[in-house]
Amino acid sequence: MRRSHFFLTLIMLGIFAVPHDHFAMQKASRSHVEKQTFGQLTDGTSVDIYTLTNKNGMHAKITNYGATVVSLTAPDRRGQMTDVTLGYDNLQGYVADTKYFGAIVGRYANRIAKGRFSLGGNVYTLAQNNNGNHLHGGLRGFNKVVWNAASRTDATGAHLKLSYLSKDKEEGYPGNLAVTITYTLDNNNELKIDYLATTDKETILNLTNHSYFNLAGAGNILGHELKINADRFTPTDKTSIPTGELRSVRNTPFDFTRSTTIGARIEAQDEQLLFGNGYDHNFVLNKKSGILALAAEVYEPTSGRVLQVSTTEPGVQFYSGNFLKDVQGKAGKVYQKRDGFCLETQHFADSPNEPQFPSVVLKPGAVYKQTTVYKFSAR
Ligand code: BGC
Repeated sequence: MRRSHFFLTLIMLGIFAVPHDHFAMQKASRSHVEKQTFGQLTDGTSVDIYTLTNKNGMHAKITNYGATVVSLTAPDRRGQMTDVTLGYDNLQGYVADTKYFGAIVGRYANRIAKGRFSLGGNVYTLAQNNNGNHLHGGLRGFNKVVWNAASRTDATGAHLKLSYLSKDKEEGYPGNLAVTITYTLDNNNELKIDYLATTDKETILNLTNHSYFNLAGAGNILGHELKINADRFTPTDKTSIPTGELRSVRNTPFDFTRSTTIGARIEAQDEQLLFGNGYDHNFVLNKKSGILALAAEVYEPTSGRVLQVSTTEPGVQFYSGNFLKDVQGKAGKVYQKRDGFCLETQHFADSPNEPQFPSVVLKPGAVYKQTTVYKFSAR
């Protein structure tokens, strides 16, 4: 009697245990989004962090502070997931950040010479926050504002839509600008970023995501093999402002048309590398603007991880993390020079002052659109 009781109890436990595991497994095998509080700003504004998970168990953590990618895991050739982005453990890290880790950069990603441009007969003056030039939207760019957020999941993956209204004259830029960024983590291990924006006054716009990647999850990025689909790049002066020339990459350290390690030529006595303290240049993609096509591919040989970047933009700024030094990062890591690289899809630097570069002007009634996809795989 007693014995049968015991077995009955076991069976009942089993009955309750099975569905529990079953639900957990179901959750892990389909995409979902979880929202948590990330912290509070000094003015009391609460900031959230969203964890997007796909059916393969890959995570993207994104905060509505700066529409920032805080972490992103990707599988190596054995299926081992590692965070492949640089960043901080908490909101305070992002508030104090000067490196733009993971953030959406705007209104104008990259530099505008002397912080001046003219449009429709008016001259506009912006903050000179980088060697006398304007960089990454100014003193309080899109990386330092709180975005409205809404998440959803469907058959294609997990989505997070972030919106922000940048008021007329914010950071000196004309026009009320409504911006929407939608991050999608899909079930093909792609993090897709769709950008949309409209204005009520003629303005300029150049948006990007400023994630720093390290596909090994540690160490420096000099052994990563990089291929960029670009026959030309935009050489700069010593303050990183393009000269206006679209120069061939042939016979220069900027030739990544065939896969080459980032470190192979980075210390070459090349004027452009000396100006940038390494790679910090816009590559002119071999494709039509507005068409989504492969821009770059990075392979990390020890882990086997591959990152493919596709974009509708005409250019990509390849930045080899030259200005990282003693940065207190995630999980006790301290980031040093060249511990991460950025592939910032965008229009070319200083386009408002270079009429021959693709236009960055946005007019009322028109819609700014960009799609960029970061796809992860392993081999
Ligand atoms: C720029 C670098 C700069 C970095 C962080 C990059 O997009 O090109 O010069 O140091 O962002 O601000």
